[in-house]
Amino acid sequence: MITLKEALTKSNEEMSALRVDLESKAKASGLNAYIGFESSGEGVPILIKDNIQVKGWSVTAGSKILQGYIAPYEATVIVNLKMKGMMAFGRANMDEFAMGSTTESSFYGATVNPHGENRVPGGSSGGSAAAVAGGIAIAALGSDTGGSIRQPAAYCGVVGMKPTYGRVSRFGLGAYASSLDQIGPITQNVEDAAILYDAIKGHDDKDSTSADFEIEDIANNLNPDVKLTIAVIDSYVEAADADIQNAFKETMVKLEAAGHTIVRKELSNTKYDIATYYVLATAEAATNLARYDGVRYGTRAESKNTEELFYNSRSEGFGEEVKRRIMLGNFVLSSGYYDAYYVKAQKVRHLIRDEFNAIFEEADLILSPVAPSVAPKIGENEDPLEMYKSDMYTLGINLAGLPGISVPVAKNDDGMPVGLQLIAKAFNEKTLFDGAASLEKAVNYTK
Ligand code: GLN
Repeated sequence: MITLKEALTKSNEEMSALRVDLESKAKASGLNAYIGFESSGEGVPILIKDNIQVKGWSVTAGSKILQGYIAPYEATVIVNLKMKGMMAFGRANMDEFAMGSTTESSFYGATVNPHGENRVPGGSSGGSAAAVAGGIAIAALGSDTGGSIRQPAAYCGVVGMKPTYGRVSRFGLGAYASSLDQIGPITQNVEDAAILYDAIKGHDDKDSTSADFEIEDIANNLNPDVKLTIAVIDSYVEAADADIQNAFKETMVKLEAAGHTIVRKELSNTKYDIATYYVLATAEAATNLARYDGVRYGTRAESKNTEELFYNSRSEGFGEEVKRRIMLGNFVLSSGYYDAYYVKAQKVRHLIRDEFNAIFEEADLILSPVAPSVAPKIGENEDPLEMYKSDMYTLGINLAGLPGISVPVAKNDDGMPVGLQLIAKAFNEKTLFDGAASLEKAVNYTK
């Protein structure tokens, strides 16, 4: 597959021929990565996760409850990429409402990891990652609330980047947990990720949490020869499988050989990441998803009166995982438990952020695993709590609002990719991408 950089030098005619090709290859692939082949505009086709509004498209967040909903407006990221020679092409499969780590909870059925027939692609942006890895998309947009860009990128052997909270507009992104959600690129390499990030980033009046200051373009002066101080947290890495630990150790050696300085640091609050995230994310999700009542959006269930209309539409429209989170979220927000869970989790969130920021006083980047294992098998994670644990390395970065990028570094004996994550200080995407370009060069991962 040609890279995004190469594709941007091609004519619209060549790109429209490529779209025809992508559609037939995607249908023949059996990956179930695309759930639609809509296109909007002219230029280089970018696959869009099914929770980002493209005007006139069906947009469903992988849910039954949004069947029949047509987006009446365009997300700012779509407006932005159209100004840079790109277009929206195709809807990517995802976990319902971006809740999940495997893309098995989609209304459209599971997506398959191109590296192993019976492996999940990760989630929730599993369709985006599987398509880029499978050679049926040049590049894709995903969304990351607790790891949903970085984790599927790691499982599929591609690059996935989550920007600093506030760097990319959330206008037109179907909200899951608004204080954590960010849109970002999933691409074949680091340079393409920088190109797509450059295109979508920037201030937006339509998003009140959008950061309002100038930012440099990154792709044009990416520096893979940068020398940085990179922190590693030993206790953190020890919780991962042997495959991940081995890849981590080998990568550290390669980074040192490339001239980086590795320093040892501690993070004592990471043990609270999962609990804190699942209290806050479910609280926000319960609130955000209250709008799906069968009246305003999508599917409406049979009913005799208004109360039954709400009840039946939500009962029939939402899947099991989404219902579990709505119930958990309403529980932690209820009057008897609000202080004990929600308020406490907000306090812990600040401690988690402060601890990360203390490391950035002395280091440019943190290197960490993305997930504790390679991609699990389809159907393997039946217990939701077990699935939540697979987010242990990614959630803290969203809680702290930091930028992170997942870069493929190795494959295990079964040929399954291992990705590692670099994390930077808020709004320091320049160092993040330079470090990622250097990491990519040092490990020389082959697809
Ligand atoms: N797996 C995490 C969750 O289910 C993260 C999802 C995401 O980043 N959208 O909430």
